[in-house]
Amino acid sequence: MGLLPPYLDPALPVADRVADLLGRMTLPEKVGQMLQLNAKEGVRHLVEELHAGSILHASPERVLEAAALTAKTRLRIPLLVAEDCIHGHSFWEGATIYPTQLGMAATWDTGLVERIARATAVEVAATGVHWTFSPVLCITRDLRWGRVSETFGEDPYLIGELASAMVRGYQGEGLADPTAILACAKHFAGYSETQGGRDASEADISRRKLRSWFLPPFERVAKEGCRTFMLGYQSMDGVPITVNDWLLGEVLRGEWGYTGTLVTDWDNVGRMVWEQKIYADYAQASAAAVRAGNDMVMTTSKFFDGAQEAVAEGTLTEAEIDAAVRRILTLKFELGLFENPRHPDAALQAEFIGSAAHAELNLEAARRSLVLLTNDGTLPLEGGLQEGGDGRATGSGPRTIALVGPNADDAQTQLGDWAGSSGQADWLPDGQPRAMIRTVLDGFRDRVPADWTVAYAPGARILDVGPDPEGEFFPDGQPRPEVVVPAAPDPALIGEAVAAAEAADHVVAVVGDRIELIGEGKSTATLELVGDQVALLDALAATGKPLVVVVISSKPLVLPPSALGAAAIVYAANPGMLGGTAIAELLLGLIEPTGRL
Ligand code: BGC
Repeated sequence: MGLLPPYLDPALPVADRVADLLGRMTLPEKVGQMLQLNAKEGVRHLVEELHAGSILHASPERVLEAAALTAKTRLRIPLLVAEDCIHGHSFWEGATIYPTQLGMAATWDTGLVERIARATAVEVAATGVHWTFSPVLCITRDLRWGRVSETFGEDPYLIGELASAMVRGYQGEGLADPTAILACAKHFAGYSETQGGRDASEADISRRKLRSWFLPPFERVAKEGCRTFMLGYQSMDGVPITVNDWLLGEVLRGEWGYTGTLVTDWDNVGRMVWEQKIYADYAQASAAAVRAGNDMVMTTSKFFDGAQEAVAEGTLTEAEIDAAVRRILTLKFELGLFENPRHPDAALQAEFIGSAAHAELNLEAARRSLVLLTNDGTLPLEGGLQEGGDGRATGSGPRTIALVGPNADDAQTQLGDWAGSSGQADWLPDGQPRAMIRTVLDGFRDRVPADWTVAYAPGARILDVGPDPEGEFFPDGQPRPEVVVPAAPDPALIGEAVAAAEAADHVVAVVGDRIELIGEGKSTATLELVGDQVALLDALAATGKPLVVVVISSKPLVLPPSALGAAAIVYAANPGMLGGTAIAELLLGLIEPTGRL
């Protein structure tokens, strides 16, 4: 036993273990420890050459490979494995995907949100992931911004309370609990004060506005003990957040006394060179980022040489790097990773991932997230039905429901951003398992009385993705990305839906948006329903049948007059895997509408 270096002795205080380990590390090992690198392109180089302290976006296979490689390194410092587990374990096949944060916010229920985060942590921890980049504390200020669904909405107080609930849920009883994962409050701060809704640009924002709106939720979670913060992409007064001494030094570390760990957003250090162009090279940018207090540098592999060059040139001291490495190692010791690296555990996965208990919690969340916006008495259908003991409603004779609209039976769209096939991970091309998801069509089929008929017609298409009609290249030679082309009205599809509506006792139209219209970088110039959805709603309204409109979308949208005149409107902010069941239950009167905007 006497041969064990002190840092491997769990009986010693964490600070002593950190000091011992730090004393054994070379400068490249220290700089590498500050790096969080993208595992998508392979992990061997990251572990063996760059001494990475953390990886993100690692497929289940890569998590295992990285763990095996780390075990062979000189000091065997365990990796921190990070992932965006935003509303459930987003990219783990078969994990429970809950309503988005915007949907959770409509529950106004801190206890429920804490339970969701706890259940998520249990699923995440079983897969060898130690850190989630959640919750989002950005305030929705401009609906044209692509990331509205990731937020808790527009109220700083509610955001602070719900985010704190999530932090409690993720971090559990404390980091020593093997089901605890690190929470990360993001994106500090002011990121959502975009110019015209454009993502990740300049935030023109006064300190007064920051202190009134943007900072209170972050201060709240700092006090709650949120162990990590992620910094935003944007600049304020021309200064990237990455090097904003006032915000990071005076406010966060100073006024609030925050001692947690800071991670940059994606290549923030590199962006200061190639995008924001405020530093001439990576040595300058790396030195400035460390000096401003960034601990973990996300995906800027050139930081590895840049920081070492800065030390060699004397613009950065090794002591400044030590301060960051100390914070990262402290997290690893407090998580107990040196004793139990918390590798993926098949038995725990089988027990907890997508468990029946989590599905029950998910259904509760979906039910509570639905908001009844207007109702002339048409809802609940048939004056409200009773549950018959088998999950189905009992009715008073056969009825037909015409269920129409592009979002009535689109399983992956119902989940929204940061789930399955939403684009950030490439190992789930088909999204989450279809069988775990109940669309509105499934929900009605499962819940209507046995003698009812559900007649389904999609009625409209929303969009296609294709080449930019302006040509393959921009005038400067850069390739143009593919663009969204709204679907043109299709009289045949609309005709089918109208025929179904005319023949039915009840008409429900489910409209909204799709993943191609939302998310990072996907700012929009219009909030109108895209494609031929408006034509569909107009045609349905013209039948004169009472029309129930359900909007499943990432954010509030502008509805046409035909929908505003509908008998009832229900809003469902990407309501998760069981959202369709909850919507059917609400329309049939099996549950009360309790969500609020
Ligand atoms: C996003 C973050 C996210 C990170 C890692 C960034 O582009 O802004 O919210 O956590 O990527 O996926």
